[in-house]
Amino acid sequence: MAKISKVEQGLFGPIEPDKNVRGQTVLSSEARIVRVVRADGGDNSYDYAVPEELADDLDLGQRVQVPFGKGNRWQVAFCIEFPDSSQFEKLKYIHSLIDDSPLITEELLELAKWISQYYCYPLGLVLSAIVPAAVKKQAGMVNNQYIIPTEKLLNWFSGDAEALTDGETGKKIRISAKGKRALEYLKSNPSENNEYKLNQLVHASNCSKPVFRTLGKCGLLEFVTRREMPSDELINLQEQSDEELDELTPQNGNYDSSPIFDFDDDADVEPDADVEPDAEPAFQLNEDQKNAVAAICDKIDNSGFNAVLLHGVTGSGKTEVYMECIQKVVDRDQQAIVLVPEIALTPQTERRFIERFGNVSVLHSGMTGVRRHQQWRQIAEGKANVIVGARSAVFAPVPNLGLIVVDEEHEGSYKQDQSPRYHGRDVAIKRAHQSNITIILGSATPSLETLTNCERRNGFSCVTLPRRVKDLPMPKVQIIDLKEEFKQGRRDNILSKRLENELRACIAAGKQAILLLNRRGHSNLLYCPSCQYVHNCPNCDVSLSVHRRKSADQVVGRMLLCHHCLHTTKVPDCCPVCQKKLITIGPGTQYAEDQITDQLNGLRLQRVDSDSMKPGDYRQVLNKFGKGEIDVLLGTQMIAKGLDFPNVSLVGILNADTALSVPDYRSSERTYQLISQVAGRCGRADNTGRVILQTFLPDEPAIAYAARHDFNGFARLEKQNRKQLDMPPYSRMARIIMSDPLLQTVEAEAQKIRMILDQINNQLQNKMEIRGPMPAAIARLEKYHRFELIIKASGPAPIQQTLSMLRQGAIENTACRIVVDVDPINMM
Ligand code: ADP
Ligand code: ZN
Repeated sequence: MAKISKVEQGLFGPIEPDKNVRGQTVLSSEARIVRVVRADGGDNSYDYAVPEELADDLDLGQRVQVPFGKGNRWQVAFCIEFPDSSQFEKLKYIHSLIDDSPLITEELLELAKWISQYYCYPLGLVLSAIVPAAVKKQAGMVNNQYIIPTEKLLNWFSGDAEALTDGETGKKIRISAKGKRALEYLKSNPSENNEYKLNQLVHASNCSKPVFRTLGKCGLLEFVTRREMPSDELINLQEQSDEELDELTPQNGNYDSSPIFDFDDDADVEPDADVEPDAEPAFQLNEDQKNAVAAICDKIDNSGFNAVLLHGVTGSGKTEVYMECIQKVVDRDQQAIVLVPEIALTPQTERRFIERFGNVSVLHSGMTGVRRHQQWRQIAEGKANVIVGARSAVFAPVPNLGLIVVDEEHEGSYKQDQSPRYHGRDVAIKRAHQSNITIILGSATPSLETLTNCERRNGFSCVTLPRRVKDLPMPKVQIIDLKEEFKQGRRDNILSKRLENELRACIAAGKQAILLLNRRGHSNLLYCPSCQYVHNCPNCDVSLSVHRRKSADQVVGRMLLCHHCLHTTKVPDCCPVCQKKLITIGPGTQYAEDQITDQLNGLRLQRVDSDSMKPGDYRQVLNKFGKGEIDVLLGTQMIAKGLDFPNVSLVGILNADTALSVPDYRSSERTYQLISQVAGRCGRADNTGRVILQTFLPDEPAIAYAARHDFNGFARLEKQNRKQLDMPPYSRMARIIMSDPLLQTVEAEAQKIRMILDQINNQLQNKMEIRGPMPAAIARLEKYHRFELIIKASGPAPIQQTLSMLRQGAIENTACRIVVDVDPINMM
């Protein structure tokens, strides 16, 4: 028998049925049938017979161990259906159960089926990805032993001296002195439910385990073992020393690898120790908020599916509206899920929800496996009213979902960039649809997808909050044309004269500032002005970025780094082609940090980007910023989202153009969103908010409209553009990315896929536009050559049909890596 790893057995161990010999078959007409999918991928499902011994314990969503294929090798599979009959005459038996109870609810199983189909990814892998790794491993569960005094002993306790005789021999039971001490202890310390946790008892009574065991053998005590989650205190203790458990690694065939996504796992991050509860001032909702709440609650009352776009400018009090609506479903004993972009899951957001609802489960990236498992169980038991978390919280196994909120619904980070490449917002909409409930999509800059859905899809509607709370004005935005700065000889200055002055004035007034530069590292690239040489990555088709080089936490010069494959190399002394001097182009946050702290003496500036901090650090930085211990946050888009600090009166956008140069049809939309988001961080408590926006392209619509806070104007223009170009949301798209170390292989394989796509398109009356194969925007990545094909259609149906036909063989049989990205967000 093949050895089963501990993980596969589950910690309960397989429940072994007697008669079950591996590979033994039964007539399907005489069997109870279960349909399963392999946990490690493959698009097929398989029918098995359920042995009678297991029938009562087997449920949908549970994992089982099955003999698989001709060689009957062991395979882990998920139960997805109990069909009445099978097309096969004979079936093998499943071997054993891995989980004692289902890992997901039937509702989530349905959602997983949809994801598998829509995002073109094997169901088993979707299920493997939905259930957190910590839950599959039952992280932290411990075996606790309890002892229970028997009738006989209880009788003796209540005065029946005859009770201590052996039932069979009639002789008096002989008890040692130590045993007597133990019995005395039990007698004088009765427990409420007549049971004692063995470890605690040993400690309290000062009697050893063997003493209790002997009493057990005499029939005075019973022993029971239970698998339990440790107490909260114990988990807190363990959290410091929690080791990462090993992972089931799926063999994905031709699908690209899918690390099980929990959140970015970072188990050694300290839980945010310094979140101090801080009661918020009580205030009345304003008229706009009241109207919004009334309109949404009306939808909630109506029952049935409703998607409401809550379009509210930054600082309009959207979160208060969410909370009022959540209150409504919590009052009905239902649960609400609140999705926020990972980086917006700040201690402030957390605190607001915890203070309001108490039983809140916050799923953030700093959680250990044990904590995540504990939270998951509590959620499944309905013990959390509100679940707040990033993308994957959409899979929270709540028993009675009443409402979903997706905050900042336009955020690209809701789309997972590893398979299954699902969009958290869209999965949330689907889940709300399946559960017949309301979903709130909140944003100051709604995605064009959501805007057009509101115009044309049933069940979608829009509610607006056009003003900031307390009648605060939107912050004034001043555009600085960097071309002019260059003319005035400030080419090397990261701050324009105006921004520098504003920053000095802001700090002098005891206020705080946020500076955005959406480019990490020292600078974008190393360039030779005399021969145009650019230093590129040897593994990828991108230029290397210049970064600080650290040794033992000391900055010791610079190095070159690839942001994709993490290749590093030394900065050459001169151009390797013409030996002239190289210059750096495109300053990043490290460069800005050096220059600004040089220029403004004594400034307490904190750089915030993915190089400078882990998620846990970020939360602590925000706490310090909130307490006024930091003057300036300088960072990438990490600091643009969701922060609500009343003392921030200045926002500086050091270069508004970084996103515009990206070859992506959404770059204009993204630029607008980013400017609007970061601008919204200031002037949230009084009317001193001011934004300085530095750009080389002051006339670019995204920039000009954002400076005027004219979202509707921008959206109108951008919709026109998309319509003309026939791009989403006016069409639907899927990207097929193929890659291989050998250029010929990937080219040939991509041509084959193109031919199959053409045939399919033919059958579908040419409803689709197919482009490619062509080299991807990054044509080589981590030594793999990459080609892409794009399929586009006016609606989702032809794309879905095509992909499901493509799955019947073509994807599995392709001789190179192939990734399907439906509704792609990242076009690189
Ligand atoms: P948004 O998410 O729309 O940017 P928030 O919900 O974060 O805005 O609200 C911004 C700030 O205004 C928060 O500190 C919140 O407590 C406060 N606030 C919300 N509603 C009101 C109100 N009606 N009156 C006064 N302050 C409010
Ligand atoms: Zn690289």
